[in-house]
Amino acid sequence: MGIVAEDIARVREATDLVALVSRHLALKRVGASWMGLCPFHGEKSPSFSVSAEKGFFHCFGCGKSGDAITFAMEIEHLDFATAVETLAAGAGITLRYDERSRSEGRRERTRLVAAMQDAVEWYHQRLLNSPDAGPARSYLRTRGFDGDTVRRYRIGWAPDDWDALARALRSHGDALGRAGLVFVNRRGRTQDFFRARVLFPVFDAQGDPVSFGGRVMPGAEGPKYRNTSETPLYHKSRVLYGLNWAKSSIVATDQVIVCEGYTDVIGFAAAGLDRAVATCGTALTEDHVKMLRKFARGVVLAFDPDSAGKAAADRVYAWEHTHDIDVSVVDLPAGVDPADLARRDPEALRAAVQGARPFLAYRVERVLAGGDPSTAEGRARVAEKALAVIAEHPNELVRDPYVMEVADRCRLDPDQLRARIARGGLAPSGSPAATNGNAPRRERPREDDDPFAGEDVRPTRPRGRPAGVEIEALRLAVHRGSEMTTLVDAVLFADPVHRDVYGALVAAGGDVHAAAALLDPDGAELLAALAVEPGDAEPLDVATRLVAEAGRRTLLDFERRARRSADPLEFSPSVTWLKLQLEHLRAEPISVLVESDELVRWLRDQDPDRV
Ligand SMILES: [Zn+2]
Repeated sequence: MGIVAEDIARVREATDLVALVSRHLALKRVGASWMGLCPFHGEKSPSFSVSAEKGFFHCFGCGKSGDAITFAMEIEHLDFATAVETLAAGAGITLRYDERSRSEGRRERTRLVAAMQDAVEWYHQRLLNSPDAGPARSYLRTRGFDGDTVRRYRIGWAPDDWDALARALRSHGDALGRAGLVFVNRRGRTQDFFRARVLFPVFDAQGDPVSFGGRVMPGAEGPKYRNTSETPLYHKSRVLYGLNWAKSSIVATDQVIVCEGYTDVIGFAAAGLDRAVATCGTALTEDHVKMLRKFARGVVLAFDPDSAGKAAADRVYAWEHTHDIDVSVVDLPAGVDPADLARRDPEALRAAVQGARPFLAYRVERVLAGGDPSTAEGRARVAEKALAVIAEHPNELVRDPYVMEVADRCRLDPDQLRARIARGGLAPSGSPAATNGNAPRRERPREDDDPFAGEDVRPTRPRGRPAGVEIEALRLAVHRGSEMTTLVDAVLFADPVHRDVYGALVAAGGDVHAAAALLDPDGAELLAALAVEPGDAEPLDVATRLVAEAGRRTLLDFERRARRSADPLEFSPSVTWLKLQLEHLRAEPISVLVESDELVRWLRDQDPDRV
């Protein structure tokens, strides 16, 4: 791209976000921020908020968020460089394009790829040969991964150690950190990002390793999957797992299968369908689609695309139109992942892919199958629902055969149904009214003893203004920086997303834009939501409550462990000490938090996942 990074920052700073947004919607001042009707989703009461001071916008309705550059990109459909150029022109900034920055970028990339390659090899050898990887090896075998599979996909093992990789690959210097393999913890020690996890290396389309997906062992604590954060090498909205292996088969068949998990890709290939790719813990994006279009026209979704409702449908039809692709959907048996099916019944998986139906057909069929055809009322109801789904498709020529199908199946007059669509006002398919409880819905099992099932599917976080002491603490860390961050520690946050956001703020030295760049979409969205709404809480007060809450959690944990332990007394000194500290904290927060810091450090040491 070649725009000097410094100039991009200048453009961001010089752009008046409130003025920019006001060109597209009316904003009203509310407290410290500005509110208006969101331009990215239909709404009647304002949930779109802009912070002039932080240069961030966030919609509490749909979750869209970002800075001036993101806003220009989204609203005008510009790519990054064009958005920067447009804003620079508006702000009277002359941009510098740097040939050097381009070749520096290439050099940086080479360095990071070299570090990643060595890490892939190191983790892989560890899995193959090291005694501490024994349980991981037998676990993989029980999941149907033989030695050939492990070698082909370069699967690895991150040992249960603080910094084994950091020490082994220290000749790579800061490239390890830049590639997301290690980080510097709060005590200034370099620490491995992955610990006690089975690692799936992710390669870009050219076959360069860019990130890892790390899975916990069954029964271990922590999120099921942990993925590399965004790095200069790795942008998850633009990387598809498996594309490097699958691309020639994708071209040959003019078809790509898109699934959700690493093991699904491997399962498809084992069943002879070596044209599958997976998104890495994110929804399919337009960038993914653009990339896939270079290889094939047929896009087969092997996951439930309906869970996202109307928004997903709108996106799919827009992609079909803009990028000239055909999207179809594999109807998998309820509760079954492609990886499971590949192991149990590869023939059924092949048949399911063979029988993939066009996106609209799949959705209409689902509605029809869930209706009650035995009465006229039942048929009318299901016809109405099916029409709502059909009406979402922008092309009448595509819609009409489906209208006739519905007329046929529900024994109604097609002309009446056409008139019903023309009249409009059908309930959107994403609304509860149109979601049929009887429809075959894939419930993904989530139990820990059912390994690999439901991988990478993160629960959707509830929208709306988040609350709680962790949120208050994060808000203060955003708006009052070191006043807050000197008082508490990331491990005091129970919610992993909160923990990530806090860690990113500390790592970025309080620079909110830099912190956002370190986070995954969930974290970045939360950060933007906090940036647009300063609070009026006091750092010391919030820190006290946060530490007290973490202390009470630890206390409960000790008491639970003591009940199960053969020697319950071994916990009693810690319990007594902690209780005293918590009392002391209530009485004299300053001396506990600021002067001694002992309680916070002690709590940090109790955390198995400390950062
Ligand atoms: Zn919105």
